[in-house]
Amino acid sequence: MSTPSTPPPDSSRCPCGSGDTFGDCCGPVLRQDRRAGTAAALMRSRYTAFALRDLEHLLRSWHARTRPSREELAQSLDQELRWLRLDVLATHEGGPFDDVGTVEFVAISKGPQGRQEQHEVSRFVREGGSWYYLDGEV
Ligand SMILES: [Zn+2]
Repeated sequence: MSTPSTPPPDSSRCPCGSGDTFGDCCGPVLRQDRRAGTAAALMRSRYTAFALRDLEHLLRSWHARTRPSREELAQSLDQELRWLRLDVLATHEGGPFDDVGTVEFVAISKGPQGRQEQHEVSRFVREGGSWYYLDGEV
């Protein structure tokens, strides 16, 4: 089972690698002070949530249709895995005036088996003003 990491201070660089501070990027989204305005912003906040093992944000931002159970997700959050880098390669739609969007990214992590690269095109939908992760093609 996973235990969440302590979030970084707001003044530090955001784990998602946007170049912004945590307090100007994923921090408020994880704390529910602000909603992710775009599919890409939600994607970044989910990467950061994986990095911090923030189970609640991952569940919250997952569309009800495809969301795993809390237990499944908790077990998949590998305590040993360190998330090193996120590269957003492309976004399609997913803006403030869209209801669907895709984000293509590469997420690099390091675990007991060494360095892993996950290349995925994720699909997002917007419902009731909030973006949700629907599914992804690896
Ligand atoms: Zn961020």
